[in-house]
Amino acid sequence: MTVVPSSTEQRAAALRDLLARAQHEYYVLDRPALSDAEYDRYFRELQLLEHEYPTLRTGDSPTLRVGAPVQSTFHSHRHLVRMLSLDNAFDDAELLAFEQSIERVVGGAVHSSGYTVELKIDGAAIALTYRDGVLTTGTTRGNGTEGEDVTVNIRTIRDVPLRLRGEGHPALMEIRGEVYMSFSGFEALNEARVAAGEPVFVNPRNAAAGALRQLDPSVTAQRPLRFFGYAAVVPDGTAPARNQWELLAQLGAWGIPVAPHHTRCQTMAEVAAWAYTIEHETRATLGFAIDGGVVKVNDLALQDELGVRNDRTPRWAIARKFAPDMAVTKLIRIEVSVGRTGVLTPFAVLEPVEVGGATVTYASLHNADQIAKKDLRDGDWVQVVRAGDVIPYVLGPVPERRDGHEQVWTMPSRCPRCASETHRYGDDVATYCPNVACPGRQLEGLVHFASKDALDIDGLSYARIQQLLEAGLIADFADLFRITADQLVSLDRFGAKSAESLVAAIAAARQQPLSRLLFGLGIRHVGAQAAQLLARHFGNLDAMIVATPEQLGAVRGIGDIIAASVQSYFANPTSRALLERLRERGLRFDEPNAVPSGGPLTGATVVLTGTLPTLSRTNAAALVEGAGGRITSSVSRKTTFVVAGEEAGSKLEKAIELGIEVIDEAELLRRVAQEMGQTA
Ligand code: NAD
Repeated sequence: MTVVPSSTEQRAAALRDLLARAQHEYYVLDRPALSDAEYDRYFRELQLLEHEYPTLRTGDSPTLRVGAPVQSTFHSHRHLVRMLSLDNAFDDAELLAFEQSIERVVGGAVHSSGYTVELKIDGAAIALTYRDGVLTTGTTRGNGTEGEDVTVNIRTIRDVPLRLRGEGHPALMEIRGEVYMSFSGFEALNEARVAAGEPVFVNPRNAAAGALRQLDPSVTAQRPLRFFGYAAVVPDGTAPARNQWELLAQLGAWGIPVAPHHTRCQTMAEVAAWAYTIEHETRATLGFAIDGGVVKVNDLALQDELGVRNDRTPRWAIARKFAPDMAVTKLIRIEVSVGRTGVLTPFAVLEPVEVGGATVTYASLHNADQIAKKDLRDGDWVQVVRAGDVIPYVLGPVPERRDGHEQVWTMPSRCPRCASETHRYGDDVATYCPNVACPGRQLEGLVHFASKDALDIDGLSYARIQQLLEAGLIADFADLFRITADQLVSLDRFGAKSAESLVAAIAAARQQPLSRLLFGLGIRHVGAQAAQLLARHFGNLDAMIVATPEQLGAVRGIGDIIAASVQSYFANPTSRALLERLRERGLRFDEPNAVPSGGPLTGATVVLTGTLPTLSRTNAAALVEGAGGRITSSVSRKTTFVVAGEEAGSKLEKAIELGIEVIDEAELLRRVAQEMGQTA
């Protein structure tokens, strides 16, 4: 027998202790001290040591255990069939090794039914017993053999059907799945706990597991728990389906929610590709935590044949683990950036941390109210996720880790760039720097002015604008139009050619229509669409400048807030001076597609549907808008008429249902022409 070096023996004992403690903290207390990645690393190390020196594998080794013993506070409930854990694959090579291990057992390639792959929901496993389709018990996984009877709590979860849909259900069946909490539910729960001075949950999994094991079901009912099913066990031997793929469909038919994005794969290369897309694209859009994908041999008979390893994990499935998408890190300090409209946006400067496969250093904190609501303080430990978007997001603080050095944060009363006094308007959540000449606003404002939907100045990038500002060549929009190629050539990173092209691009921007200029000015609340509506209605800037808020607000699509903002912009002498300088520099102040009010389709709300015989969707919309009509995407009672082409679908049905007039392309053209003729 191989002699185990004493240092290895000591290491194994230390790992056993560490993992046993971690399992207790994770499964019993719902308060893990280690991150999952750390736990997985130690677990793998112990597994390898035990593989190399089998005598090290003591009967109580954490590597042989599923979950944790049942707590005496709950009745225990024996599962029909043991509930297992899963082995992990941390990379594609380990996926291949998994496939090879199956092939060794079956003595050849895996059955043609291949694999079903599913999201690995990061929640708590439960088993639901249904007798003749009626829910009788709900149990935690516990130690795999027995779980805690938490039926009263499970009944509060709206996703869990109390009675299965359809007919002819097995007399006895256990449905297995995962109870989880969405990120938004988790965030709201932790916010409420911070406000109540209660400790926050470390992650949605622990929050879900904790809620399930509440002694008072009314507390569980207030926790936003959700459920996804992924397996069914029928003890009388009748298979609920032939394979995992059909089983998921069957669960859905019974009214059990099934997680999205599962698919079938024939090869491990396909599995790896699916996992890659899920980890790098889909995951950020889910709104709930997953810690990987689960790969399952599809054929249920083959699953039975493959069986279980060490009484702990199935041989027919493996978890392809992902990088964690949530982490705890230190919020070094809260800083404030100044946007083009003067909005001050607080952001977190974080101790760099790996989240969802990327290093995160900054995260927007949106506004002062959000910070106050979450009680985020300078110097706090915070939970960071990359979810809902690839943009990092601070879920909230971990107040238990405060050491007293944290500082309550307030929005600065002076702009960090120009020291002007900051303002909040009415019940707007944003705080503003009101100084139009603020250097912070100028940079962002110029970037916006030159951007694609505004004056679209090719080559005038963020870095270039920064360079021009620093060189003192520009201070505002108007200055751009007097820059010469000679001035640019004297700057770093400008050659004769790039200087000439930039000057030409700026010159060309003079011809952009008023709508783009108006959008580019960065007037508060005036987006591209509002700018277009205003420019088309008034036709030129001078008419707009003298318009009253009532006249502005009378433009279709322009509400009181936009009207007031536009009016106050034009009333401001600094803005007026800027506009005069832009006029002197030759910018265009009119709108070529302007519609004099009273255009042929003025007041009409039009919906386009299906493929029109000659007009493209864009051209048809332009025609309607050019005639003063408004295009909307859905049919309602306010719709004036619907223009339907080939293969018109639900919008046409809706129009007929509501009795809205439906016309074809020829009629649209006739109406526009005829009415134009009449009004001319
Ligand atoms: P696991 O969570 O890695 O995998 C098994 C579980 O996956 C199942 O019981 C089931 O609940 C769940 N699951 C989710 N979606 C599934 C699907 N579609 N199909 C099948 N199962 C699905 O295994 P485990 O034994 O519960 O826990 C081990 C893991 O828990 C570790 O890898 C680690 O990440 C974490 N853990 C962390 C600590 C810590 O201290 N941080 C301690 C213990 C465990």
